[in-house]
Amino acid sequence: MSTTTPVNAIEREQEIVHNLTKIQHTVDHLKGSNTARLVAVSKYMPAEDIEYATKTGQTHFGENYVQELTEKSQKLPKSIDWHFIGHLQSNKCKAVAGIPNLFIVETIDSAKKADTLNKACIAVERKDKLKVYVQVNTSGEEAKSGVEPADALDVCKHIKENCPALELYGLMTIGMKDRDATNNPDFEKIVELRQDIKSKLNLDVFEASFGMSGDYEEALKDGSNNVRVGTAIFGARRIKQ
Ligand SMILES: *Cc1c(COP(=O)(O)O)cnc(C)c1O
Repeated sequence: MSTTTPVNAIEREQEIVHNLTKIQHTVDHLKGSNTARLVAVSKYMPAEDIEYATKTGQTHFGENYVQELTEKSQKLPKSIDWHFIGHLQSNKCKAVAGIPNLFIVETIDSAKKADTLNKACIAVERKDKLKVYVQVNTSGEEAKSGVEPADALDVCKHIKENCPALELYGLMTIGMKDRDATNNPDFEKIVELRQDIKSKLNLDVFEASFGMSGDYEEALKDGSNNVRVGTAIFGARRIKQ
């Protein structure tokens, strides 16, 4: 019997495995004694690309759109740990909460949204608490989602005290594009907030998710616990975000 795998698919697999293996090594090297995970951001990429990526042992994948995440999660192995990293609309909370192997929602942007997701988890009878990060708009750009840095503590406190179906797990920021990577003010802000809120709310685990393709190395040096890398693994997306 002849092999039927097209040459294109073989090349694509090699490309993804090559990129991802290199980045995994860099992450392992730079994280030092910190616990930091690499999230492979697979938005707009076909399910096959994710399957290739899993061959390196990669389990954490990030998606921005509920519909796309739902379809991929049904099609792909349940051993994948999904991260929802897109803007979360209230009317999509139930669909998100219903994905059994969803590891975390990284984009809680208000106390109200947390309440809606909390209710959704209860409504779908989710087995375990759903981990959440509060997204912070560290750069103050109007187009960016997230709570103001000054409000982050209150929103975290609200989740801890009023959302029993959620597990407050940290903060997330996107930050301004094309910042000078060293002394990045978005990174400094999120690290400062992580420390402050962790101690004020007396939390054992409280992470900070920051760093993308262009600056994940710097982010890890600055103490990121969760870097979200898309382009550097899968190449340019056809549809621009
Ligand atoms: C798309 C996206 C990423 C990945 O960005 P790259 O520059 O392709 O690495 C990370 N985080 C969020 C929230 C995203 O939407």
